[in-house]
Amino acid sequence: MATYKIAVLPGDGIGQEVTPEAVRVLKAVGAGAGVGFEFEEALVGGAAIDATGGPLAPGTLELCRRSHAILFGAVGGPKWDDVAHERRPERGLLALRKELDLYANLRPAKCFPMLVDASPLKRSVVEGTDLMVIRELTGGLYFGEPRGVERFADGGARAVNTMAYTSREIERIARIGFEVARKRRKRLTSVDKANVLVVSQLWREVVTRVARDYPDVTLEHVLVDNCAMALVHRPTQFDTMVTENTFGDILSDEAAILAGSMGMLPSASLGGAVGLYEPVHGTAPDIAGKGIANPIAAILSAAMLLRYSLNMEKDADRVERAVLRVLEQGHRTADIAPRGTRAAGTTEMGDLIVRDVEAQY
Ligand code: NAD
Repeated sequence: MATYKIAVLPGDGIGQEVTPEAVRVLKAVGAGAGVGFEFEEALVGGAAIDATGGPLAPGTLELCRRSHAILFGAVGGPKWDDVAHERRPERGLLALRKELDLYANLRPAKCFPMLVDASPLKRSVVEGTDLMVIRELTGGLYFGEPRGVERFADGGARAVNTMAYTSREIERIARIGFEVARKRRKRLTSVDKANVLVVSQLWREVVTRVARDYPDVTLEHVLVDNCAMALVHRPTQFDTMVTENTFGDILSDEAAILAGSMGMLPSASLGGAVGLYEPVHGTAPDIAGKGIANPIAAILSAAMLLRYSLNMEKDADRVERAVLRVLEQGHRTADIAPRGTRAAGTTEMGDLIVRDVEAQY
């Protein structure tokens, strides 16, 4: 029997409530598919600061390196707002991304048919949306050198950031784009600003070259300004999208609006030997500890873990189908329930999805 080791890092706030539901779903998949999962928990974020003084507890990184995949919750909260910059909770996540070379961030944005009306956009626009934004995570404007502020004697100042990419950095993220598109509808949109930026001209050149290795995937290039417009105008035209760090940061948040609620959005960070899977949402201090958080983003992150780290495509489909069916049956957590209707709690929603997954084997 294949056995997979999963590092479980719930973090803080609702991270500690939704992550156990994702673990329960994976256990149900393991039992059904005849695969062994070994879960080992470790501290990260505020929980790690409280216990060890730093946002990445000793041993957490090592555990991640020894695992096949990482299931992450969320980190942060008002309790740690005054902690020194280099010890803040999110530093734990940033350190993991850096140490594990997680340079590709995958964020699907899917509009569930029964939640169409939760989106601020018109039904006719969002219905049928099912896209994936792949953002380069470790290069570009956020990391390029030189950077800094120069202060002048006359009181003026000049600030600099640098957008820089090597062909190697572009090629590796492009390959992830094509590989992911292959697992979806085989259409890849590369987003750049090649009419203005030389960095984008190199980006376009390299992506076009890589495309020769993926003749089964259709590639198109779109300028970022057009893309931003098309996302809220005709989002159904997109399947898989790949772009650099800053553009991806903005476009993935824009795409999130299409799905209706933060509680529904999973993500994956890939690149190095081990992938990290986490809901897009944060620790939600306003509802933490109440048992009402929506566990679906965490559960869909577990489905991505099955698909992208373990190649358990059919089992990932089962989990996604279970989520869809439970929603179809009318079950809702408070964040997606119509006003005045009864909402399911975190574990109740988890129970419903686990039972549906079990019934599919
Ligand atoms: P948030 O995502 O935690 O919450 C935004 C709003 O969405 C809140 O009203 C919250 O109740 C709601 N919400 C989020 N997830 C939900 C869920 N699963 N079910 C139901 N409702 C949900 O963002 P925020 O309030 O800006 O940040 C709170 C804390 O989380 C901050 O400390 C921030 O730094 C941290 N944060 C962490 C991550 C991460 O770990 N990757 C990401 C974003 C924010």
